[in-house]
This record gives sequence, C-alpha cells and structure tokens, in this order.
Amino acid sequence: MMDLKSIKDILRDFEPQLIQIRRRLHTTPELSFKEENTSAFIRSCLEEWGIPFSAGWAGYGLVGLVSGERAPSNRVVALRADMDALPITEDSGYPFPSQNNGVMHACGHDVHMACLLGAVYVLHRLRQDWGGKVKFLFQPGEEVLPGGASLMIREGALQNPVPELILGLHVQPGLDVGKAGICPGPSMASSDELYLEISGPGGHAAMPHLAADPVLAAARIITGVQELMARERPPMTPAVMGFGKLETIGGATNVIPARVKLEGTFRTLDPEFREKMHLRLDEFVRAIADASGAEAELKINRGYPVLVNDPLAAAKWLQFASEYLGADSLAEIPPRLTAEDFAHYTRLIPGCFFRLGTGPSSNVHSPKFVANDEAVPVGAGLLAWQAIRFLGNT
Ligand SMILES: [Zn+2]
Ligand SMILES: [Zn+2]
Repeated sequence: MMDLKSIKDILRDFEPQLIQIRRRLHTTPELSFKEENTSAFIRSCLEEWGIPFSAGWAGYGLVGLVSGERAPSNRVVALRADMDALPITEDSGYPFPSQNNGVMHACGHDVHMACLLGAVYVLHRLRQDWGGKVKFLFQPGEEVLPGGASLMIREGALQNPVPELILGLHVQPGLDVGKAGICPGPSMASSDELYLEISGPGGHAAMPHLAADPVLAAARIITGVQELMARERPPMTPAVMGFGKLETIGGATNVIPARVKLEGTFRTLDPEFREKMHLRLDEFVRAIADASGAEAELKINRGYPVLVNDPLAAAKWLQFASEYLGADSLAEIPPRLTAEDFAHYTRLIPGCFFRLGTGPSSNVHSPKFVANDEAVPVGAGLLAWQAIRFLGNT
C-alpha cells in the first residue's frame, strides 16, 4: 500500500504554512462571484509550487490537474472547493478577523480552499508514488443561485478529462477536529424559492362584500400548504415548505389591500416529490385564491438539486477514511435539508461530499462561527489520501 505516513510527514512540515494560507484566506473574504483577490492568491500558490491550472472558470474559478507518475493510468478523480464568503459582519473573536467590512467566511469556505490547496501540494510532492490524475476545481459562487457549479459544468470543467468521481468537503461545527463522516445516498435537499403574489380588488374594510381580500387568501394559503404537505408528502420523505416573508402592498386598519406578496422555500430529498409538488402547489394556490375571489400567481425559482452521495463510492470513502483517520474517527452524518451546489456535480458523475470536524462553534452562517485551524491539515491529508485510493493505488 502507498504509505499514508508520507502524506502525514509532508503535512507536518507544511502545517505552519498551510495554516497561514487558511488565515490569509479568512482575512480577505469576498462575496459570491466577486472572488477576484481570493482567486489571485490561489493562483500565486499554484504558480509557486509549479502546478498547472487554467483560470477564468465561471468568473474567478480555477481548474488544474496533478498527474501521478508511478504507473501509467488514465483514471481521473476530481476534488472541489468553493471560494465565496457571506454578507455577515464577523464577530468570531479570532485574532485574524475579516478585513473586508461586512463580509465573512462564515460557511468555512476558507477552510475548504486551504484543505484543497494542501491536498494539491501533497499530491504534487508525492507524484512519483501514485498513478492516475487528480483534477482540482476551485469554484466561485456556491452561496447564491444559480451557483458556480452549474456554470463551471456548462463551461466544461468536467470534460477533458472526465473524472470518474468527484470529492468535496464541508466544515462541520460541533464535530471534533480529527473526525469526519459522510451520509450515503440523498444527503442534502433540493431547495426551491417560492414567490407568490395574490391580488384582488381590495376595498373599504367596512364593506368586505364589495372587495376580494387577498390577506385572507394569503392566510388560507399559508396554513393550507401545511395541510397540502401533510396529505401529499409520502410519510417517510423528508421535506419542508414554509413562507418566511409576508408583505401587503398598501392596506391599513380600514383598507383591504389589493396585493399581498409571499416568499418561501420548498426543500426535499426526493426529486420525484419535488416535481409533483411544483404542479400541486400551483393548482392549490390558484384554487384557494379563486375561492376567495382573488388571483394567485406563483413563481418557483428552481434552486440546487438533491445532493446524492453515490452509495458504492460512499462505502469506499468510509473504508479509506478509516485507513487515514482510524475507525474511531468516523462520525455518523444524518441527512439534512440545507442545500449545496455540489449536487450539480453528483447529478452527472458519482460524488462524495463529506463533513470535516472543525470543533466547537456556533453554526455556519452565524457571525460567531469559528473553525479550528488544526482541521486544515486533516482535511488536506484526507482529500489527498481519498484521491490516491479512489484512483486504485494500493
Ligand atoms: Zn453556506
Ligand atoms: Zn458552505
């Protein structure tokens, strides 16, 4: 077996530099599709190490290739990290906080990039010890629709060469550093945005019989979708639907407004149920509005698809992770209804999206989110080892 000790040895020496890389990325976060300086910094690392890549993918994305030299092999495995930060004012207490006011790496994408850089560095240093090719993708714009993954795919990031598998990781606050896990099968939800407008003539509050009341229709729709979900959703299918924004256009204590806007989300782990509900919801809101003498117009902004971890690949992932981390360090990861545009890759090729323990913290997307630096070499080594093993090296 290729010695995993050589990965750990390289990372032990490289760890101080790798942590500096992570901190540098953390201090200079950039919003989705605006990752210009982040991209330039990653480019400078790759150039310094002599690793070939091309730039300009979906804006500031980068794609490159590390080739193993041990045995001739055309097998290709891909590794992906997302690059963008969030519009959040950091309150982490870090000695290396964001220098870009109002922007924060609150989803750990700084850690993801540092892990991928570390993995690429190790794979390049050890290239004489393994066979095959590792394609790496630094992907912009994970946090906003349509997501950088779909754009990079459209630009051909999964072509020439086509990888047989893609691996990605996400920080997991609350999971100890040194631990990692994967949820086989459907593991993250499809996520669609709902925009609903209900309109009626409105009128004087004292004369409702002369008006149609879109507020009442909205109220019936808000509670009604919960009944719809209760009757349409197969009981074992995880899904949520709800409205987080309700706004009347006009209206007063004595005025029935003419328009109401609702915004909400619909998430599920079942692609068939997703399509069915898109149709049923449209019928349902029209019928309720109609019964109230109002009209409803529903727009569904399709978000990311269901993220499916290929069950066979996930079983291998567990074996390889247990080799690298030790069986005691594997964590059970339940499915969740958050969404991730890594799902676009897993629709085309088998994928493994796994969780890396980054220690105690508030949740991601919180101003107080923190991720322990010591998780970075763990993630880097695990990515490198997974790539080498999935390429058939023993
Ligand atoms: Zn996020
Ligand atoms: Zn994220």
